[in-house]
Order: sequence, then C-alpha cells, then structure tokens
Amino acid sequence: MKTVSLGVYVRQSDEEPGPDGVRPGEAVARQEAACRRLAAALGAVVVRVYADNALSASLPGVYRPGFEELVSDLAAGVLGGFVFAHADRVARRASDAARVCALYEEQPHLVGRSVEGGVDLSQSRGRALFLEQTLDGGKEAAATARRQQAANLHRALAGQPHIGATAWGWDRDGHLQDPAASLLRRGIEAAAGGACVREIRADWLDHGVTGRTGKPVSRKTVLLRLINPRNVGYRIYASAEVRRNASQLWTPDLVLHGDNGRPVMGDWQHVAAPTTYWAAVRSLKEQLDAAHERGHSGPPPGLYTRLLSGRVRCTECEASMVVSSRTVRAGASAGTRRPFYRCPAINGGCGRLTRTAVSLESYVAAELLTRLRQVAATAVVPAPLTADAQSAYRHNALVRRRTELLRSAQHAVEHWPLLKLPERRAQLATHVAEVRLRPAPRGRWFDPDTVDIVWAEHPSEAAQAIGRRGRSR
Ligand SMILES: [Zn+2]
Repeated sequence: MKTVSLGVYVRQSDEEPGPDGVRPGEAVARQEAACRRLAAALGAVVVRVYADNALSASLPGVYRPGFEELVSDLAAGVLGGFVFAHADRVARRASDAARVCALYEEQPHLVGRSVEGGVDLSQSRGRALFLEQTLDGGKEAAATARRQQAANLHRALAGQPHIGATAWGWDRDGHLQDPAASLLRRGIEAAAGGACVREIRADWLDHGVTGRTGKPVSRKTVLLRLINPRNVGYRIYASAEVRRNASQLWTPDLVLHGDNGRPVMGDWQHVAAPTTYWAAVRSLKEQLDAAHERGHSGPPPGLYTRLLSGRVRCTECEASMVVSSRTVRAGASAGTRRPFYRCPAINGGCGRLTRTAVSLESYVAAELLTRLRQVAATAVVPAPLTADAQSAYRHNALVRRRTELLRSAQHAVEHWPLLKLPERRAQLATHVAEVRLRPAPRGRWFDPDTVDIVWAEHPSEAAQAIGRRGRSR
C-alpha cells in the first residue's frame, strides 16, 4: 500500500491566547504534535507543516501565507491531503472554508481530517460540519464556546458550593487549613517549576498525607488535587453523569465561565495565583502526554519535565534533588523563570545544595553525548562458535541487545538537537546511573568538578565478558 503524504496546518492568532495564557508559539507546537499523532494513526507521513503563527483568520484582508500555500499545494496534487487540530484553525470566514470544501468536492480521494470535532472533508457530511465549525468560531475557539454554553445552562446548579468536609486543604467555611494548604501550595509551585507527581507525592507522604480512605495518598489523588481549579478559586461544572466518573476528570477543562467570559469565582480562600496554577497544570499535562506517548496510562513513575529530574543526588545528605524554579528579575523587566535543582529541605534533605538547571543539564548532556559517541563507535562482537545451544542463545540475546543500544546511540548522536525530552531522558536512563552533586561556593560559575556522573553498568560490557569467556574456552 502506498503511504499517503499529508500536510499539517496549524494556526494561532495573537488576539486569542489559550485560557491558560498559552503563547501562540506554544499553541501551534501543540497543534502540530496532535496533528502528527493523527497522521501517524492514519498510517500517513507528514511532508510539510503549513503554519500561520499569530495570524487571524477572522479579520478580512489578512493574508495567511501558510493557508494560501496549503490550498495551492492541495489543488496542484502535491499533497494527499492535510490534517488540522480543529476546523476553526483552518478557517473562520465562509469564503476561506468554501475554497477548502471546493477542493475536496473536486478531489474526494484527498484526506482531510481534524483532531477535534470529527471533521472528514472527503465526506459531504464532513464538509457541512467543517463549514458549521468554522463559522461557529467567534472570539474563542469553538470547543471552548460549546463547553461554556453547556456549562452556563447549569450555572445555578454549579453555583452550589462544592466545598465540604472532604476538600483537602480547607475547613468547612472555606478557610485554608494548614499543613494541608501549605503542602498543596508547595506542590503547585513545584509542579509549575517542572516537578513531577512522584516528587510532590514524596513530600506529601513525608507529612502523612492520606487519600479519602485513610491510606497513603496515591499518585492519582496527588495529581487531581494539584490540578483542581478550586485551588485558584474557580468554580467548575460537571453534570451528575460526568461526576460519576469524577476520578477520570481533567478538571481544568471544566472551569465554569460567566457571561462576561471570565471564570466564575467561589468564595473560598485561594491556594495559588492563576499564573502559577496554570503553569502547574500545563507542566503536569505535558508530563502525562509524554507518558502516554511512551505507552503508559495514568501517571507512571517517570513523569518528568527536565533532563535530570529524579536522577540528581546531593552528596551532603544523599537526598534526591528536586527541580524548582525562581523568578529572576533584571532591572525593570517582568522577570524570567529560572529552573534549578535543589536539595529539598523537607523529605530528609539538607536543603543546602542548589545548582542552576541549564548549566548542569548542558554539562551532563555533553558528557552523555561523548559517551554515546563511544558506544556508537564500538563494534559488536559476533556470536562465538560454541556447542552449547543454551549459552549461544544467551549470547545472541545479549548481542541483539547490544546492537540495539548501538543503533539507539547512533540515532541519538545524529539527531540529538531534535530529540524530545523523553527520548533524551531514555538515553540518560540507559547510560547514567546517577548524577552526584558536591557543594560549590554560591554565586560562582558552574564548576564541572562539583559534578560526578555515575555511569550505568553497560549491558554491552557483560556481552563482551561472555564473548571473551566463550573464546577462551
Ligand atoms: Zn542535601
């Protein structure tokens, strides 16, 4: 079967940032990732990404070069079709939508599918849906608007306070209650800085936090408590039916909006500021998505957003260091978030060591790359001639594993700048057992001498050893 070559169209206008303040650049990157997943699921290859970043599709007279090229490539038969996140990314005006529909009426063999909204442009029903969704746009993304309409219908119901005895972090009157509220706040701040659920859970467990049943709090419960919009005072709405599956809900999607388009606020005390909360939600969501891509369901142990999270140890106290971040201000600028690795002052850590994430990571990455080049350059030892079928089988298994490692290392060396974080972390996990940090005087330049990289014992060396034994027999 011939593989279909598809285009991907992405667009985000700058007058419609996401509800969580996502910048257009991030939004199009996410759209592209979702489109690539869809194309892969369709068994197609993506040959080109057509992007109109920070361009409106609803204002008349705005020329969108990405859209224009896409239309002409489709008309010229260069593409087997295209995929897109949602109809309202492709068009907001009937005239643009009609041009796309006309192409598919003439060439129904073309692929034209949306990630969200169920549009299939090769079907006439799908084209009707496409037209409807593009015109449905308005100021906000159609999906958000639909969600809001549905939610607004039930505002009276949602207006009932959901704060009760079971809301961890508050008392019955909606006042924050320590230590739960402080742990929750600290968790949200850590998550905003890239910490994973496992790290935050470890903190909570140390303080005896339990789930509803009184057992030690689960990862899932930690995640759900962190992402709950209640933390910033937002009310959420979910129907009784939806609520029955409450353990599965991504509650940030359920924030109730008023007629003015603003979130409806509850009258309880807030744990976190919206910016911190949304940063935490975004980071946790990315970790979940990355985990799902690796084939996990639910929050697995490896939910990380930084190269070395979970792998750095403080030599002063042997505690596992966590990722945190602080805002660095230069003059009158708004300040930038600067992540760093920190020995936790809680969790039995001494709290004394910190190291700027970027310099530590680039040093370890450079060392890892050197290691990978060595691995990639080593020759695989061929299976020794041996009469023993079982040991030959074992040896061959090791050789296979080693060949895999070698290929993987070659791939990583060649494509390192393009590798996504999970792939880089996978290489790190294969070759680095631990990164150990020793104290360094504060405020000094990054000093590689304060970093010990403990290399993982290499399966290939075991294979070599067996090979040598085989030959010496
Ligand atoms: Zn320490």
